Amino acid sequence: MSPWSSTNSGDRSPKLGPQSISLTWTLLSISIALLLGQAVIGFVVGRNGLADLGLAIATALLVASAVLNARATGILVERRHSEAESFGRLLQALSRSVSPNAVIEAIVNELGSATRADHVAVVQMQPGGTVLDVSFVSMAPGSQASNTVMPIRQLEPVETRRLRTGPRLASDPTVRVGASGRAEDAPEDVAARGKSLAWEAKGERRDPPGRPRSRSRRTESDPAINGSADNARDMADQIAYWLRDAYGLRNTLAAPLIDGEAIVGAIVLSRRTSEPWTDSSVRLLNSAAGETTAALKRVYSHQAAEVAARTDQLTHLPNRRYFDEYCTLIASRRRASDRVAILAVDVDHFKRLNDMYGHQTGDEVLRAIGNAIQTSVREEDVPARYGGEEFMVLLRNPNHGVAMEIGERIRTTVRELELIEAGVTDRVTVSIGVASGLAADEPIAEIVERADRALYAAKRTGRDRVIEAWPSDV
Ligand code: GH3
Ligand code: MG
Ligand code: MG
Repeated sequence: MSPWSSTNSGDRSPKLGPQSISLTWTLLSISIALLLGQAVIGFVVGRNGLADLGLAIATALLVASAVLNARATGILVERRHSEAESFGRLLQALSRSVSPNAVIEAIVNELGSATRADHVAVVQMQPGGTVLDVSFVSMAPGSQASNTVMPIRQLEPVETRRLRTGPRLASDPTVRVGASGRAEDAPEDVAARGKSLAWEAKGERRDPPGRPRSRSRRTESDPAINGSADNARDMADQIAYWLRDAYGLRNTLAAPLIDGEAIVGAIVLSRRTSEPWTDSSVRLLNSAAGETTAALKRVYSHQAAEVAARTDQLTHLPNRRYFDEYCTLIASRRRASDRVAILAVDVDHFKRLNDMYGHQTGDEVLRAIGNAIQTSVREEDVPARYGGEEFMVLLRNPNHGVAMEIGERIRTTVRELELIEAGVTDRVTVSIGVASGLAADEPIAEIVERADRALYAAKRTGRDRVIEAWPSDV
């Protein structure tokens, strides 16, 4: 929630518009003019000379204070206005961001300049991640972002760390920065990796021993401060301390990135000078942190949905959609010297296996075959479940004989699968058709077609074999 909505008493306050403001100024001016007129007349006429002089001075002071007050209010309103504008721009930039990098860029651009920070660091744990990713950006023109990783233990509540690390926490030797600037974990931290980040709020606020009081600040506009909010700030401070050590920062301001009950990172601003951070910067950072978590969550779930749409849920191999898209992509980038080959793999008598052992066992067998194919191909090859009990493999730049060799490897790996645990006592076999590209501009769909024809030849001639399509098969 934005600080403006929480500090604004909104609906409960009387509706005061620009007309009411000019009315108050008119009334004030009239009263001052009357007072001043009375004092001047009294002074000129000579009655109560001293008293009228005093009244005139008091009136002049009143005028001066009213003007000063108006000016100060104007400056405050102006600040709030530019704060609201910065926040509005940030929201707009975040809503347009379609990748984590774009989210970070939006934060750096808007938050960095609005708070006059020299550096902005975004520390976040990606979904399923085992370390915290750090993007550290200098606001100096033309500077490149520096990316590194931070031990995940920075997100553990202080009391847990104290229990685990004991007195060593004071000098914090378990966090080291390697020569490359990358954070290195002590062995015990490696063991702690992968632990769930969800933690229960314990209440009491504590600062890490031997360290200055934390720098993350709350404002009057913060929601009700509770134990978890305090702990979240402690986490943000821990992250800021780590960055201070790693990058030699002096004056930092941090806000946690909170996703439900879990702390998933922090935004840390830093300044070279010791100039204090204004309340406006604190408010802006706190609000930006909330919006950043939401934006990161949105882009990660969008990415996850895209990956899911290209992945076969049973075997976790790429699906046909991905395979076709990938083929289109490499077709447009193929050079004359690039070669491709296709393996078309089909499970033998799979219908019979389903009938004998049931569909669920059939699924398990398909999973095992998908895994066998995955482990038989090279790093640069792309295997996919093409549909039903049929798989395709795209081989990148296979040397002579490599396509047949990989096909043979897949065939024997599948044949040797031990499926007793799944209740399958028979050997499961596959037939494979192999086709190599004849020219750089040959459409991959045509190579797939030739591989398919070779596959049917393998079926016709007895199954459980690998057959290569000849160029004359075109
Ligand atoms: P061939 O050796 O000639 O390839 O014979 P086949 O029985 O393997 O081929 P057919 O095309 O006759 O049957 C394929 C079977 O694969 C039929 C279908 O029920 C089964 N199948 C397709 N997709 C799945 C799946 O996701 N899970 C399971 N369990 N079976 C599937
Ligand atoms: Mg089959
Ligand atoms: Mg089939």
